[in-house]
Amino acid sequence: MTWKDMELTGWGRSHHATCQAARPERRRDAVAAISQSDATGVLGFGAGRSYGDTGLNDGGRAVLSERLNRILAFDQTSGEIVVEPGVTFRDLLEVFLPRGFLAPVSPGTAFATIAGAVANDVHGKNHEAVGSFGHHVRWVELLLPSGDIVRASPEEHPDLFAATIGGIGLTGILLAICFPMTRVSSNAVALREQRVRDLDAFLDALKNEGEKAHYSVGWIDALAGGRSLGRGILETAEPLNEDIAERRKKTRAVPVDCPGFLLNRWSVRAFNTLYYRRFVRRERRRRLAYEQFLYPLDALLDWNRLYGVRGFHQFQCVVPFEAGATALRHLLDAVRTGRNASPLAVLKTLGKAGVGHLSFPIPGYTLAVDLPRKQGVENLLAKLEAITLDHGGRIYLAKDSCLSAEGFAKMYPKLGQFRAVLAEIDPDGRMASDMARRLRIRDGS
Ligand SMILES: Cc1cc2nc3c(=O)[nH]c(=O)nc-3n(C[C@H](O)[C@H](O)[C@H](O)COP(=O)(O)OP(=O)(O)OC[C@H]3O[C@@H](n4cnc5c(N)ncnc54)[C@H](O)[C@@H]3O)c2cc1C
Repeated sequence: MTWKDMELTGWGRSHHATCQAARPERRRDAVAAISQSDATGVLGFGAGRSYGDTGLNDGGRAVLSERLNRILAFDQTSGEIVVEPGVTFRDLLEVFLPRGFLAPVSPGTAFATIAGAVANDVHGKNHEAVGSFGHHVRWVELLLPSGDIVRASPEEHPDLFAATIGGIGLTGILLAICFPMTRVSSNAVALREQRVRDLDAFLDALKNEGEKAHYSVGWIDALAGGRSLGRGILETAEPLNEDIAERRKKTRAVPVDCPGFLLNRWSVRAFNTLYYRRFVRRERRRRLAYEQFLYPLDALLDWNRLYGVRGFHQFQCVVPFEAGATALRHLLDAVRTGRNASPLAVLKTLGKAGVGHLSFPIPGYTLAVDLPRKQGVENLLAKLEAITLDHGGRIYLAKDSCLSAEGFAKMYPKLGQFRAVLAEIDPDGRMASDMARRLRIRDGS
C-alpha cells in the first residue's frame, strides 16, 4: 500500500491533521493498510463532512474511503442494498431516485459517505418517523484492527455492532454496509413553512405539527432576544405522490476564504431579519425536489470558506423534552449574548434513542449552532457544555471539537460497554483519532 503525506481537516476547518494517507481500491489493499499501521494508529476517513476532529488522526495514518465506492448489490423488490464505505448519499440519490428509492435516513449534506453515516449514526429531518441511520443497518462488514474481517449485525456479534454504529471509526475499517432503501412515489415533497414568533410557540409547533409530519426541521434566529427569543421558521414536509419538473439550480462555489470580519453581529442580524421575513404571509406552501429539501446547503460548494481561514465550530446538543424549554432558553441566551454571531441555527426534535453505544440521539430537542472561531468561542462552548449537562443532555460528536473528557463521560452512559469492546478487539490501540485522545475514550486516564 502506498502512503502519501496529506493534510486533512474537519468541515469547520478549526482542526487540521498532518498524516500519512492511503487510498485503497480493493479490500485487500485495505487489509494491507491496517497491517502496516504502527504506534501512531490508523483511522478511516470519509468525505470530511464531520465538523471537528472526529475523522482526524494527527501524526498517524488515514485510510481514505473514496475509491472504495462501489454499489455491490441491490434488490429491486425489497430495496435492500449493499455498498462499499465510500458511496455517498449523492451517488444513491443520482442512481436510485429515478428508480423510486431514497436512502432511509440522510444527513443535511449529500456529500457524506455511508461509512460516515454509520460511524456517526447520523439522523435526518425524519428522525421522529424513522430513527437514525443505525436503526436501518442490517449488517456491516468490518476490517478489525487485527486484520480479520467480520460481519456484525444485531444478531451476529451484537456488541461489536453496537460499538460500530456511532463508534466514530474506532472499531475498524468498514468495508461493506447493508441496509434497505425506502420506496418513494415521486422526486419531491410538499413543503409547508411557517413563521413562528418565539420559543414557546416554536416548541408548541414542533410538538403539534412537527411530530406528526414525516419531515420537520426549524431554523432559529439565534440573535433575537427578549420576547422574540427563539423566533424562526418551522418547515414540515410530506412525500408527494407525483413528480415535479425539476429545475436544476446551478451549483455555485465560494472561491476564496472570506475575511472573518464579514460575519459580524450586524451582518448576521441583517441576514436573519431578511431570512425570517423571506415570505410575506405567516405561512408558505410549495413543492420542492428531494435534493433541494434534504440538502439545501449543498447548492453552495465550499460554503465553510465563508467563515474565513480560522474556520468555525458547530455546537449541537440534544436535551430531553422535559428539560427542553428551560435548557433551550439558557442555550439561546448564551449564544445571543456571546460575541459569536451565527446565521445558521437549527432546532428540531429527535425520537427514539440510537442503537449504538455512542449514538447521539435520545428523545428530545436538538439545537445546532455555527459559531465562528473568534476570541472567546472556547469559553462560550464550555458554557454551552455546562448548560447541556445540567439539563441531562449530550453533545453530538460528529460536530464537536471542544467537549471535555469529563463532560463526555457523563453524557454517554454506555461508554463502559464501548470501552469493553475496544479492549477486546483492539488491545494495542491500533485505531486512533484526535477525538479519541482528547476525550480519553479508550481508558479515561
Ligand atoms: C452541511 C452539513 C450538514 C450536516 N447535517 C447533518 C444532519 O442533518 N444530521 C447528522 O447526523 N449529521 C449531519 N452532518 C454531519 C455529517 O453527516 C457526519 O459528520 C458524517 O459522519 C460525515 O460523513 P463523512 O463521509 O464526511 O465522514 P468523515 O467526516 O470523513 O468521518 C466521519 C467518521 O466516519 C469514520 N469513517 C470514515 N470512513 C470510514 C470507514 N471506511 N470505516 C470506518 N470508519 C470510517 C471516521 O473515522 C469518522 O469517525 C452534516 C454535515 C454537514 C457538513
